[in-house]
Amino acid sequence: MDFFDNLRDKLASTSKDVSDKAKETAAIAKLKTQISMEESKLKGLYADLGKAYYENPEDENIEAYKDSITAVKEVLAGYDDELSKVKGLKTCKNCGAKMAKEALFCSKCGAKNEPEPEAEPEEAPKKKVCPVCEAEVTEDMAFCEVCGTKLDD
Ligand SMILES: [Zn+2]
Ligand SMILES: [Zn+2]
Repeated sequence: MDFFDNLRDKLASTSKDVSDKAKETAAIAKLKTQISMEESKLKGLYADLGKAYYENPEDENIEAYKDSITAVKEVLAGYDDELSKVKGLKTCKNCGAKMAKEALFCSKCGAKNEPEPEAEPEEAPKKKVCPVCEAEVTEDMAFCEVCGTKLDD
């Protein structure tokens, strides 16, 4: 690999990091917007429920309001989970508080949370390359098909 290849690789990986970060920021912003929308929906539902109950505790819409509130809360919990995932947080096994992925003890309840085992990166099959021209060669080739060099195993 020559200097320019190295440079190109470096540039490629840097811009990838940057776009990952930008993607993460955008995802967080989007989730926060969705969360605040659901939260205002929830506020509205609570107000409707309270008013309906105040006016008539037997109001048949009360159950419907309750169901809607439960549904919105579930959606909110889902967004919250997604948000922690994007931010790289984990949830305390004991109290459910959000904590940094690398934290060992919960800052809220003190429970020990073993760090989750990192997902093993799938091992890329080892590529064999020609020692002379660096062309990709396969195990069964005796000679490089690009430059004709004899390949030893
Ligand atoms: Zn905890
Ligand atoms: Zn070769």
